[in-house]
Amino acid sequence: MFWITLAIGLAGTAVALALAGRRVLFLYKIGASGQPDPERTLQVRREPKKAVEGQAVEVLGQRKLLKWTVAGLSHAAVMWAFILLLTVYIEAAVALLVGLDAKIPGFQTWGPIGFVQDTIALACTAGLIVFTAIRFKNSPKRLDRKSRFKGSHLSGAWWTLFLIFNVIWTMFFFRGVEWAAGNLPYGKGAYFSYLVGQLFEGMNPDTLEVLESIGLLLHIAVALIFLVFVVHSKHLHIFLAPLNVMFKRRPDGMGAAQPMMSGGKPLDFEEADPDEDVFGRGKIEDFTWKGFLDMATCTECGRCQSQCPAWNTGKPLSPKMLILELRDHALAKAPYMVASEEARSEFTDEQKLAMQVDKELVADDGVIHPDVLWSCTNCGACVEQCPVDIEHIDHILDMRRFQVMIESSFPSEAGVMLKNLENKGNPWGMSEMKRLEWIEELDFEVDVVDDKVAEDTEYLFWVGCAGALEDRAKKTTKAVAELLHIAGVKFAVLGPMEACTGDPARRLGMEFVFQMLGQQNVETLNDAGVKKIVATCPHCFNTLANEYPQIGGNYEVVHHTQLLAHLVEEGKLTPVAPIEENITYHDPCFLGRHNKVYKQPRDIMATVPGVKTQEMHRHKDRGFCCGAGGARMWMEERIGKRINTERVDEALETNPDTVSTACPFCLVMLGDAINEKKNEGAAKESLEVVDVSQLLIRSIKGEGLPEQKEPVAAE
Ligand code: SF4
Ligand code: SF4
Repeated sequence: MFWITLAIGLAGTAVALALAGRRVLFLYKIGASGQPDPERTLQVRREPKKAVEGQAVEVLGQRKLLKWTVAGLSHAAVMWAFILLLTVYIEAAVALLVGLDAKIPGFQTWGPIGFVQDTIALACTAGLIVFTAIRFKNSPKRLDRKSRFKGSHLSGAWWTLFLIFNVIWTMFFFRGVEWAAGNLPYGKGAYFSYLVGQLFEGMNPDTLEVLESIGLLLHIAVALIFLVFVVHSKHLHIFLAPLNVMFKRRPDGMGAAQPMMSGGKPLDFEEADPDEDVFGRGKIEDFTWKGFLDMATCTECGRCQSQCPAWNTGKPLSPKMLILELRDHALAKAPYMVASEEARSEFTDEQKLAMQVDKELVADDGVIHPDVLWSCTNCGACVEQCPVDIEHIDHILDMRRFQVMIESSFPSEAGVMLKNLENKGNPWGMSEMKRLEWIEELDFEVDVVDDKVAEDTEYLFWVGCAGALEDRAKKTTKAVAELLHIAGVKFAVLGPMEACTGDPARRLGMEFVFQMLGQQNVETLNDAGVKKIVATCPHCFNTLANEYPQIGGNYEVVHHTQLLAHLVEEGKLTPVAPIEENITYHDPCFLGRHNKVYKQPRDIMATVPGVKTQEMHRHKDRGFCCGAGGARMWMEERIGKRINTERVDEALETNPDTVSTACPFCLVMLGDAINEKKNEGAAKESLEVVDVSQLLIRSIKGEGLPEQKEPVAAE
């Protein structure tokens, strides 16, 4: 019996390993054909501790998955079963190679191990039941677009659940017979195996030996089939997720947009040659190996899709489907990508058609439709939610770069903004002298830098284009200037020397204009000796803090809500006049998700007497975009429901007197949607959207309160 079992076991293992190995080699060749990205490996070598932390927190700790409590706990149970039940497979291998009664000394004699094995297997079974229920509940047929699984390959997921179920029952069958045959050394520690063993107790030893061998072979066979299945399916993430987490950009795929890279080096525009260098991503071969790793790691869970503002308002963009379409195309084109020049010349036209050799990456009939590419607001909800740290925004941005810089193909209305940035240094094309007008409306002096910042200047106040030129945002600028003045913080502004940070150009994909504006600003800031900056616009804040270091600008940058919260805490600003209002706060994506500033704006509101705050359903890291990011502010929104309307509808559910935020673009987008709602009679006339700094100054000065309320004078 031993030899027959051994022969079947070894033959099956050899076939399965050959099939899996061939597939792994094929996948490796695709990855290796990608563009280099040396920074990914360098950062692991530079900060090995962080790489280990990532594995402990994201992979073993399942941090992101556990945010979705029931599904997260179930996944954690299955994932831990995958790790811990490897011990059962080690035991199975020993039984196969040495004999059914062979045991690993010092290991297979310890009862608690059997207890842990049985317990995690049962927890895994519970997880499988929950997954099955979730999949039925979210059935795309029933819920259509609202289902996070819409567009996922569902049959693969059902097969996976079925195979894992087979792993579990064959394990208990094998161990139950083992127990009855006296070969399971864990005693009643392996309590469930013991219970199953009761079914076989009293059978004659020959029958038990046959059953035990069958159980052993079944248990091994399921694992081998699972292995072959996994490397051919989306469940490849079992092996690839730890790698993707290891090589993600740190701290995550948000904050800074990545520089344009070609051949593993930042692209030098003065030397660049569009025929030689890679300008963004114009074809699938332009993706780096990390890009291919992202595509291969996607679990198709749809968490990104469920949070995407574009998808949720009827646009064609789903971050999940974008990754899947890139992956399917990469797999289709792979035989061509990895072939030698000689082999390529021998492919027939039919073969090339099947391999999608001439399929454009972004085109009406391409891999990605342009409407998909231009729908993204860069809000970061997809990156935030993705349990395997896929970097959707980087891929979208790189494809945009190719479209804008090589194909000159982008929504025409954004062209006006680009021209204005090039010619006037702001998206509205206004004169730079207009940047000083808000100062004239103040009743105190503001220091405007004309050479160097003064010795005693604590902060350079980066006003931003909207803050200086847009009427609603100017109110925030004046409120912040007044608050700094009241708190005794010495600050200065650049006035006409300030130009747009370049964020809208960069997020559109026009890296050249971003570089031009960025270098101009960095030169101005460095020449003026600026060390600390406060910015009211989260886009400026993000660019100054996270992107200017890429071009030689290194400053300590804070958002005004961070500075104001600190000044309130220090007692330099004291809100006294009550504002008896229900207020709901909208998290700007580039302040919240991109830079993790959630607390300070809320802290400021909490210090204002009378304010009652109520969170919207989607808030903090699950906050819903206003629709302006990713240069969408400068594009028409022609498909689906407007994102700002969706957000204001959600705000109205809290019955607010005021909607607060901390971004000039959110202020405009939400303000526009609120005005529409007022015209429709769906919002009260008094409803307004304000920056939290406006609330603070109102309370400190007792000004701007509704007439029927008596302002309490500030001390
Ligand atoms: S960044 Fe936002 S809009 Fe863009 S794909 Fe991700 S979730 Fe959707
Ligand atoms: S990209 Fe991430 S969040 Fe989206 S489906 Fe894939 S694994 Fe899930």
